[in-house]
Amino acid sequence: MGDHYDQDNSIGDHMTSVDLSELQSTLASDVDEELASTPEVIDVGHNLDVSKLAVTARRWHIVTDVVSVVADLKNSTQLGTGKWAASTASIYQAATGNVVRIFDEFDADFLQIQGDGVIGLFWGERRYERAMCAGITVLSFSHDLVNKLEAKWDNLKDLTGYKVGVSNSRVLVKNVGTPRNPAQQEPIWAGKSVNYATKAAQSADRHELIVTGSVWDRITSNDYLALSCSCGSGASDIIWDDFVIDRLPDDDPEAIGRKLVSSWCSVHGAEYCAAILDGKKTRTDVTEARAALQRKHFKNAIWENAERRRTDRRARLSGLR
Ligand SMILES: [Zn+2]
Repeated sequence: MGDHYDQDNSIGDHMTSVDLSELQSTLASDVDEELASTPEVIDVGHNLDVSKLAVTARRWHIVTDVVSVVADLKNSTQLGTGKWAASTASIYQAATGNVVRIFDEFDADFLQIQGDGVIGLFWGERRYERAMCAGITVLSFSHDLVNKLEAKWDNLKDLTGYKVGVSNSRVLVKNVGTPRNPAQQEPIWAGKSVNYATKAAQSADRHELIVTGSVWDRITSNDYLALSCSCGSGASDIIWDDFVIDRLPDDDPEAIGRKLVSSWCSVHGAEYCAAILDGKKTRTDVTEARAALQRKHFKNAIWENAERRRTDRRARLSGLR
């Protein structure tokens, strides 16, 4: 055994000792205090400053609309074991580190690594544009990553790759954790946004991006996002499929979503990505593709019903504010 092990033995001097009954009575009185008081809720609209979130004060911030992008590595629990153990460390490093970099490049307003997955949150200006460009870039990266992994380890064939989910909602946020110890503090994001994006990602297969109903409502009129590029036989509506997210409650119209089965085109990708971030929405080459997209949902009772309920919900929420 080397020196490393001898040094680590000093950890043995530090025993964990817990006064359990004391801890339990503290927990109980904290819950009583919390339930007896009304927490302060500050509506910050679209302007949240994460560094100003309180830990001890009972103060929550409400953000009008947060777009969550969840990137999940397929079959990651299998990767850690048995015949894939040797490749796991390299995969995690190459995969997670670079997805974090992608979210950062698209100015994610908050980033969190959760196990094998990465969550990027976007609010404020161009939040849908930044979120979608980040998500699509993860899909492109997923193809490149998997090609390289499979070239190096042939037993990885068809095993892994990124699955992406995107959702949005109003969110309540507060820092929770141990006061005076920033290492044990983290914001909690209460609301459907993160939760539904996680479930959408879980419902996807690798190299797929699934959006909930409301996210589609927000991007459907953007020609650069909703329709394919002009390569091949021209712009079309075939890059997205209707997709029911069966992990969501089936009476929630958010479950009637769509699935992107394409990623950035090697010819048009850079140009379209820049156009989207620039706030551009209209192309001149999509008249027929637009008509085809409208026909797809015309007289589709399930689709129309879900869309109407989402519109009603948005109207109700904005009326309350
Ligand atoms: Zn193209």
